[in-house]
Amino acid sequence: MKLLMHVCCAPCSVECIAALREEGVEPTLFWYNPNIHPVEEYKLRRDTLKSYAASIGAELILEENYGLREFVRKTAPDFTFGERCGICYEMRLAKTAAFAREAGYDFFTTTLFISPYQDREKLLRIGKAAADREGVGFIGYDFRPRFQRGQEKAKELGLYRQKYCGCIFSEEERFSNRAKKAMRRGEVW
Ligand code: SF4
Repeated sequence: MKLLMHVCCAPCSVECIAALREEGVEPTLFWYNPNIHPVEEYKLRRDTLKSYAASIGAELILEENYGLREFVRKTAPDFTFGERCGICYEMRLAKTAAFAREAGYDFFTTTLFISPYQDREKLLRIGKAAADREGVGFIGYDFRPRFQRGQEKAKELGLYRQKYCGCIFSEEERFSNRAKKAMRRGEVW
């Protein structure tokens, strides 16, 4: 089976790759994440994945698109959490599905399926629609039971582990949540 796996970041990829290899499947990794901002964060996550893929002998395809303006324009009608995530999934999985078709892969999937913080049902719906449009297969692996182990392994390996999901809005929410807590405690932030 020729499987293309969209990868959101190296830490999430660790146990997804391990699970597939245990099943005798060698995925080709596909980096396409125009939702990651700002650019230094984008480069850090991309370069961490490059090093990790090389260290385990995995094939990696980089589809570069920093894409801040396009992402903000598409999510601007409603950039609340959840609403914007659907658009974010669509951008990434549509590109992965199109690449899978062009390059002759049988199936595609995504490491987003390992995260308990992502909306699995929405991912399944959007991935299936993209697969149908492109005429390729889509597999909705449930990697979530391996999430904690993956994070621990990533820590042991010294991989860069990000503090927010990726988009500029998730960075803002992390900051504003922290600021609100500090203000409630009467601290300077
Ligand atoms: S919070 Fe994460 S999944 Fe949602 S839009 Fe931002 S980067 Fe995408």
